[in-house]
Amino acid sequence: MLNLYFPVRTVPIAEESLKGYSMRLLKRNGRKRLSELFSILNLKYSISCFTWDTPEFNQFIKKLAPFVWYKPNALKCCFNSKLNKLYFDECRFIRSFKLQSVKLCPCCFQDDSGYLKASWELANVTHCEIHQCLLIDSCPNCHRPIEWQTDLFRGCTNCEHKWSSKDANKSLVPVYQKEFVQRTIKQGPILDCIAKTLVIVMRPHDYMYESIKMLKQSNEQMHYYMGQAHELLASKAYRTRWLLRFTDTNIFPIIESKFLPIALDALAGEYPIKKSDTEVSLHPVSASDIVRKNRLEIQHNCPVHFQISLNEAALILNLKSIDTSTLRDINVINSINSPLKNKDLLFDLRSITDISKTIINRGSLIDNANTPKLIKVSDLFRLLDLYLLSKPKIIQLLINIHEFNLYKTKHTNIWHEVLINKSHFLKVLDSIYTQYLPHEIPPAKSGKLLGLSHMLTGILLSRFPHLPPNENEEENTDSSIFYNFMNDYLVLNRWCKLNDFQPIKVTNLLQAKGIEPFFSNAGLRKVYIYEQCPKLDSELEIIKMYLDKAEPQITLLKEAYLLTIEDSPNKDPLGTALFGRIVKARSGYKMGARVLTSLIINLEQKRPFKSQSGGAYNTYGIVKTLKISYSEWSYLKKKSISPDELIELRKSK
Ligand SMILES: [Zn+2]
Ligand SMILES: [Zn+2]
Repeated sequence: MLNLYFPVRTVPIAEESLKGYSMRLLKRNGRKRLSELFSILNLKYSISCFTWDTPEFNQFIKKLAPFVWYKPNALKCCFNSKLNKLYFDECRFIRSFKLQSVKLCPCCFQDDSGYLKASWELANVTHCEIHQCLLIDSCPNCHRPIEWQTDLFRGCTNCEHKWSSKDANKSLVPVYQKEFVQRTIKQGPILDCIAKTLVIVMRPHDYMYESIKMLKQSNEQMHYYMGQAHELLASKAYRTRWLLRFTDTNIFPIIESKFLPIALDALAGEYPIKKSDTEVSLHPVSASDIVRKNRLEIQHNCPVHFQISLNEAALILNLKSIDTSTLRDINVINSINSPLKNKDLLFDLRSITDISKTIINRGSLIDNANTPKLIKVSDLFRLLDLYLLSKPKIIQLLINIHEFNLYKTKHTNIWHEVLINKSHFLKVLDSIYTQYLPHEIPPAKSGKLLGLSHMLTGILLSRFPHLPPNENEEENTDSSIFYNFMNDYLVLNRWCKLNDFQPIKVTNLLQAKGIEPFFSNAGLRKVYIYEQCPKLDSELEIIKMYLDKAEPQITLLKEAYLLTIEDSPNKDPLGTALFGRIVKARSGYKMGARVLTSLIINLEQKRPFKSQSGGAYNTYGIVKTLKISYSEWSYLKKKSISPDELIELRKSK
């Protein structure tokens, strides 16, 4: 155990970095390189030895301590500063916030007392606070990077150049550094925000920001990028101006599943430094400095800055990732690579935005998105199951089927916001969708095609046993069986889903016209099957007109009486009023509420009935008529009874 220490046992200085301390120790003992220290300690060198609290770090401290006559814990405490803990973070966007080369202040190394500060190793500490100058990381004489060897304390590690105060580039300590160093809390979040924003300012036109392991820029370049990143977070005005660079494409890059303006605002919200500094700008770094190899390798297919991942493509199209990869499977878009896993798919941004453009370009321009009867394609998404169509499939149809009439306003900028006339759209869809359907349907999907829940599908099958799927069958079924069934029978539940009506209401209205279902079950939830026939078609058309939301100004009545008032004791004019109960009203009325209108203007049962006070009323059912006296009219107004009850009252008298 003899000689298990260095002849000169250097004492760590406050604020000194462990790596810098190791260098100083080597210098004092006449050694040159870190590798010598590690061979003395019989340790394998790795970056982790200088990363706070890693097993390698602890092992290094444990082995080094006796050589400098320290207890391991005491030695560890010397490098206990918060900064030490911030260099590396597995979760951060830029994992290692260090530059690879040595950074130092030439003025601080004018005599023998110079040492390497822990803070200098952080990428956002670019200046010497004492001498107000940029740190250097390369030799001003030969321009080679300063290496980690003991000559660095006196001068260049490559040429004979000795550090002098002339080497220092005078520059005020920037706000991003000053504010950061002064803080005792929130230093971690500052680095997290800056790390993300740095990637953005380094490659502002990249559409895919990847997290990176290490920073490769010089300290001087880093100073400019830091300045820009800080400004982007601290100044809303700068941010707004900076984002204007994307107005050409109208598409913002995405970082962590957020479009850039939102992402930057969120980061700015977390960034605690609010003081603005000078504005700086710098050219983007070259792709090879920051972009991963797998992307660089396919530059010939698509320039790096137009490359986007599956998730980003999905976000731009407002689809799920799985739908976006399906779009590729059905050849609506091409990927620029063919990875084993879908999550690694890369796309050309331009081909993704072209999808929306192609669909929008097919639309005729109209002034106003609130044009009656036009709805957005996205409003139909919930009906796609009824056609067994997925969103990717609908995109394919919108691109290929020119019978669809599409409309757009000048604000329409994504495919699913194009406007359509719902009934026309569904009519075209009805005529073509069978060609696009698979010939075989999995059992779980057949119910969806018919617009029925699992339970109702079961009820249907109990009545139509020839219809697959058989409960126990796993196999796909021939889709034509369903089309044939739908040619013969109308599943009212499906029709109601398409038209947004309640089956119970429609079936009651049909019943009033003497059309009974071919089949419906007992029980609370019902499936209604009708035999197809022209009369059914035409009645449903009428019902659609009555129930359609397109005429919201008409109050729909469940039952209606035209009440003709036969005598008037005073000057009130004689006339006819309408009595009814509300099925669907403009607003404010409750279902089933009683309506007694003022006098009706248009008689002869011409619908809709219009009252003197301007209301419009309609009913699908039969309109009964009743002659009443003026006193009965007054009574009806006062008491909440119906004409039927009035008739009962008459009988009882
Ligand atoms: Zn200095
Ligand atoms: Zn040199």
